[in-house]
Amino acid sequence: MKVIKTGDKTWENRHETFVEDIQDLYELGNEDALDALDSYNDATKGFQNLISEAIATQTPLRSLGGGWSWMKIATVNNGIMLDTKSLNTVFNVSTNSVSATYTGNTANLLFAQSGNCIWELSKYLQQKNRSLKTSGASNGQTLAGAVSTGTHGSAFDFGATPEFVVGLHLIVGPDRHIWLERASAPVVSDAFIQSLQTELVQNDDLFNAALVSFGSFGIIHGMMIETEDLYLLETYMQRMPYDDSLKAIMQTLDFSTANLPCGNERPFHFSVLLNPYDMDNGAFVTTMYKRRYQPGYQPPVGNAAGIGPGDDAAAFMGTLTEVAPAMVPLLVNKVLGASLTLFEKQFGIHSEIFNNTTLRGKLLSAAVGFSIDNVNQVAQLMLDLNQEVGPFTGIFSFRFVKQSTATMGFTRFERTCVMELDAPYSDNTYSFYTQVWQKLEDANIPFGFHWGKVNELNPDRIASMYGAAADQWVAARNKLLDADSMKVFTNPILQQWGLDTVLP
Ligand SMILES: Cc1cc2nc3c(=O)[nH]c(=O)nc-3n(C[C@H](O)[C@H](O)[C@H](O)COP(=O)(O)OP(=O)(O)OC[C@H]3O[C@@H](n4cnc5c(N)ncnc54)[C@H](O)[C@@H]3O)c2cc1C
Repeated sequence: MKVIKTGDKTWENRHETFVEDIQDLYELGNEDALDALDSYNDATKGFQNLISEAIATQTPLRSLGGGWSWMKIATVNNGIMLDTKSLNTVFNVSTNSVSATYTGNTANLLFAQSGNCIWELSKYLQQKNRSLKTSGASNGQTLAGAVSTGTHGSAFDFGATPEFVVGLHLIVGPDRHIWLERASAPVVSDAFIQSLQTELVQNDDLFNAALVSFGSFGIIHGMMIETEDLYLLETYMQRMPYDDSLKAIMQTLDFSTANLPCGNERPFHFSVLLNPYDMDNGAFVTTMYKRRYQPGYQPPVGNAAGIGPGDDAAAFMGTLTEVAPAMVPLLVNKVLGASLTLFEKQFGIHSEIFNNTTLRGKLLSAAVGFSIDNVNQVAQLMLDLNQEVGPFTGIFSFRFVKQSTATMGFTRFERTCVMELDAPYSDNTYSFYTQVWQKLEDANIPFGFHWGKVNELNPDRIASMYGAAADQWVAARNKLLDADSMKVFTNPILQQWGLDTVLP
């Protein structure tokens, strides 16, 4: 494996909201002289050497994906960050690599190195007439980076990105790397295990824990993912009154009496955006319907602000700036007016709809998941809070996600609504966030924080949000990593969250 030591002493996240002091940033790459498999196995050894050195020099390590997170989860104070983006090989999976007991379709499987970006994978899959099953709204994350925080879209009958992962190649220490998959859903054959020169571990609890583990379970070198046939999305965004019938859909995801663009057809994606400064004109409602792929459609085009059908508020809220409170409604309306254009019957494949790699401005984003049972209570609470302590220089967005199988997936409710609060970087935004979390707790509304977005997690909150699941996650980490390796993959935020416990 190529290891380029950049000598960088600081690292800043992509949204420029924090800077971390580091010992170094290593850019990693595959050896070009070797064939794909040898190069992959050489990178496995390279990772093990890095862990071995880190143990010897007592230096913490952390894998870096796209650097898109707002929390210091990909960084390690005074440690070494590993830039994985150039580790982007993909392997087609042959029947020889698949267990006879695999219940899925081998043609759907793709084995990808962890540094592949979501956009890269989508591009590759498109050539094969295939598609990712879901993604976030934007596509600049790496595969491992996205999955490791539970990145989601609004595919409410499928779930978040961890749901398409069926196998993990984990480097857990200097002398051990494993292929981890569920015992209840075996995927790979002995031949596959031999080709990676690895050890097979089939265990549902360990797998579910490792899925969303924000860099704390060692280094994810590769992932087996399930893809599907290329499909089109028929997309709409319309203004609808925020009335009882819309509220009923949001609270039940029952579309049987819906009057949406395709009547009562159940959409693939459904999301609602409330602008507290323009409620009289209704909510922005986005619906997307899955259609069989056929060529000859007109791919979507962004509007004058470069915003397309799949973009979430994070794509344009960074253009807002903090202004005097009296000006906030005017400014939010102006930015929305310029950024959000209603559209109907726009077609595109998944990667054409969710295709934004551009980051605009110094933006903050926070997101919490709660049960859809509470969605209208939360929406009202937000509108009230904005009156009481606002104005918040942003909007309230609601997406819907099926429950995650990941032990620490924050979309942990049977049917989860994720509320996103995107706003300019400022003390006011941070302060508004704090008051929102307090308000949710005062109202006894159970919720979970997006691990990669701005959050105020602490051990008490983690205990009340995840209960026994948090203990299972810690136990799984202790089972997979030895004490020295756990130390290497511990960073300050893991300690702050109380998830670094070493069990006797
Ligand atoms: C513009 C924008 C839009 C966004 N839209 C959405 C959205 O629609 N939905 C949503 O849920 N989130 C969204 N997010 C949040 C984002 O998806 C998450 O923060 C995601 O984790 C970032 O992925 P990344 O590749 O940048 O990873 P990073 O931020 O670099 O890292 C995330 C975590 O993954 C770990 N990691 C990375 N690679 C590896 C590896 N090889 N092995 C082990 N651990 C690893 C890191 O250590 C870190 O803990 C958005 C963020 C931005 C900036």
